[in-house]
Amino acid sequence: MKNFLRIALGGLVLGGSAMVATQDQAVGYTTIGGTLGMSQRDFRLYNNFNGSSANNNTTINANWPQYDGAELAMWKGGAEWGSRAHGDGSGDTSQGTVGSGTANFSYFWNGEASGVGGTNDNIISSLGGSSGGVLAFAETPINNGWRIRFYGDAWSWQDGPGSVGSGIDIQGVACHELGHTLGLGHTTASGSTMTAFISGTGTGQRSIQSDDINGVKFLYEARDDNKMPWIDSISGSLVPGGSVTINGGNFSPTNNTVWLQSDVVTGGNTGGDAEKVTGISSGSGTSMTFTLPNSGWTGGALHVQMDDVGKKSLSESHPFDGNGGGGTIGNDTIILTASSFTPPAGSLVTFSWSGAPVNSPYTFVWDFTNNSPFFATYSGLVGTGTTNVIGTGSINRIVPNGGSGRTVYMEIQVDDNGVIHDSNTLTISVP
Ligand SMILES: [Zn+2]
Repeated sequence: MKNFLRIALGGLVLGGSAMVATQDQAVGYTTIGGTLGMSQRDFRLYNNFNGSSANNNTTINANWPQYDGAELAMWKGGAEWGSRAHGDGSGDTSQGTVGSGTANFSYFWNGEASGVGGTNDNIISSLGGSSGGVLAFAETPINNGWRIRFYGDAWSWQDGPGSVGSGIDIQGVACHELGHTLGLGHTTASGSTMTAFISGTGTGQRSIQSDDINGVKFLYEARDDNKMPWIDSISGSLVPGGSVTINGGNFSPTNNTVWLQSDVVTGGNTGGDAEKVTGISSGSGTSMTFTLPNSGWTGGALHVQMDDVGKKSLSESHPFDGNGGGGTIGNDTIILTASSFTPPAGSLVTFSWSGAPVNSPYTFVWDFTNNSPFFATYSGLVGTGTTNVIGTGSINRIVPNGGSGRTVYMEIQVDDNGVIHDSNTLTISVP
């Protein structure tokens, strides 16, 4: 059974359902039953917003590395519920600190998904159509996961990052819907993120208020500063195989785990799993050093989990600009496919991609050798151009007549403000 909890524009009576809600106090937050376990802390975005204003923020903020557009807005909307400030807490002009929950709870931002997923895959996406004044809804119950849908075509969604003019703020609505998925219902405390209605553009929902904080503390308990690990800084060589040092506190002597964003981009449950580096020791409890895996991860957010599996074991998220600064990041995060993998010479093939950084220059390359990643080594260009506002695109090419019997390898690369993202390698065999 689906339990739709909705946020509506002010003035319209909407939302609620038979499963809502346990009233915990006369005035204030409510709960919907259940909390998110440690395997359900992930959240992702399938960025299928069509509106031109939903992905027009292309400015990277150092406290939120490697994401822009709607993805950045979603990430901040979730990070606001975190146990501590995300990084230094900066990066949003509408609030002093992002990361205000102060409970034993933090979401794990795992970047993009390639589909809307099932109702338990913890993916946010856009949905066509409309439902009166409803902006978005969360499909619960939450114990086995959730799904959030925005009515993408019905409203003029804006990704900020500051004031959003006459549209509706993605970040504020995301913060509200993610409040449902962590276990909160609507509140009667005016001015809270979890009120059933927004007024104005919804930017006021970006910053959770005392009643929202009381709600997340009720569900997950107030942050335990004697147990829960935290991160002050990350330094070292943030590339595959690099040695990285994390400074913070409450690390276990042995068996700490670092959660990195996975480079698996799917519309299913596995894409939500963190790429974990396990078995890390910390002699002092305040510093640990580990080696970054050679593959499987991307930059974005990083957490530390101490030697425990309980709700107090996972730190807040910290910005992790892995491979950043003009290097190569996001290996295989773009999904590239073709209308045929065995096209005859002289035939037309459509190549299409999704999950790319938006509004960014792309280079589509080929070679007779699989040089993945092809950043510097390729024989020729399939094409160049600029990705669209939702990071998808396609290009048609005719297979050269001389191609019979040859196999070529292809990859698309997108330059996101100096950071290169690339796709999976396509193998095309011409019969
Ligand atoms: Zn709601």
